[in-house]
Amino acid sequence: MEKINWNELPFGYIKTDYNVRCYYRDGKWGEIEISSSETINIHIAATSLHYGQEAFEGMKAFMGKDGKVRLFRWEENATRMQKSAKGIMMPELPTKVFKNMVTKAIKLNTRFVPPYGSGASLYIRPLLIGTGAEVGVRPANEYLFIIFVTPVGPYFKEGFKPVDMLLTREFDRAAPLGTGSIKVGGNYAASLTSMKKAHDKGFANVLYLDAKEKKYIDECGPANFFGIKDNTYITPESSSILPSITNNSLLKLAQHLGYKTERRAVPIEELETFEEAGACGTAAVISPIKRIVDDENGFEYNYGSEPGPISSLLFKKLQAIQLGDEKDEFAWVYIVE
Ligand SMILES: *Cc1c(COP(=O)(O)O)cnc(C)c1O
Repeated sequence: MEKINWNELPFGYIKTDYNVRCYYRDGKWGEIEISSSETINIHIAATSLHYGQEAFEGMKAFMGKDGKVRLFRWEENATRMQKSAKGIMMPELPTKVFKNMVTKAIKLNTRFVPPYGSGASLYIRPLLIGTGAEVGVRPANEYLFIIFVTPVGPYFKEGFKPVDMLLTREFDRAAPLGTGSIKVGGNYAASLTSMKKAHDKGFANVLYLDAKEKKYIDECGPANFFGIKDNTYITPESSSILPSITNNSLLKLAQHLGYKTERRAVPIEELETFEEAGACGTAAVISPIKRIVDDENGFEYNYGSEPGPISSLLFKKLQAIQLGDEKDEFAWVYIVE
C-alpha cells in the first residue's frame, strides 16, 4: 500500500483492507462475513434508502506506547446501538456479535491503526440498515449490519483550540418525543442546513435550544454541551439529547477528580455564568468553546481564546486513559488481542 503520512491524516475516509458484515434474514442474524469490497449491493426499495431506517455508531481504537490496541467503552456503543435499533424498529444486534465484529474489524486492519504519538486513531463505524424492499411505510424484513474502520487524524487540525458556536432558534435538531436520543442518520440529515448556516458565518457549529420552549440548551452540533462553574461540571438533560459516552466519561472523571457534577435543564441565561464551556464527543473528545453568539440579538458569551483549566485537565485525563498512558481505574479500556 502507499505510505500513509500519519501526522497529516485528515478526519476522513481512507480505504482499509477489510470490513465485516452480518445479515439479518428470516428473523435471525447470520454468520459474520469478511469483505474486501467498499460497496454494498442493495434493493432499490430498501427501507434505509426511502424511510431512513438506519442507525450508526462511532468509536475509536488507539495504539498505546506498549504496542497494544485499545478500544474505549465498546459495550456502551453496543448497548446504544441496540437502543437505536429498537427506536426505529430494527432488530437488535446481540452484544456478543457486536464485540466479535469490532475486534475482527480491528485485527484485520491492524496495519491501519495509527502509531502512538501521531495524534491519529482508528475510527470505527458500525452501521445498521434496513435492506428489505418495502414501498409502504413499514419496517423492513431484512437488515445488514456492517463495521468498517478508517484511520483518522484529529478532528480539529488546529488541535485543542476553542471554537465559536452559533446559538440559533431557526432550526431544531430533534423533537422532544422524536429520535434525538438515538443515533440515527435522520437526525444528521436534519442538522445539515443549520450546520451549513453556522459554517457560512464562520462558526464551528450550531448550539441548539430545546425544540419545545426554546429556553434551554440542547446539543452543540452533533456533540453534547457542558459548562463549568464553581468547580461543577454541568451538562443539559433533555429527551432530545443523544447520550454521549464521552460526556458520561467526562462527568465520571470530573466526579473522580473531586468536582461536583450536575445533569439537568440548563437555561440560556445560565450561559453567562459559566467559566468554561465545551462540546464533547468521540470525534474530538472536547472542543472547548471560545464564544457563543446568539443570532437573534447578537448577544455574545465569551469563555476565552484558550481552553479553561478544568476542560484541559479532563481532556488530558480522558485521552491518557484511552491511550493507555494512565491507569484505567474505571475499566473503560479493552485491549484487542
Ligand atoms: C454520537 C453523538 C454524540 C457523541 O457521542 P459519543 O458517544 O460521545 O461519541 C453527541 N451527539 C450526537 C447527536 C451524536 O450523534
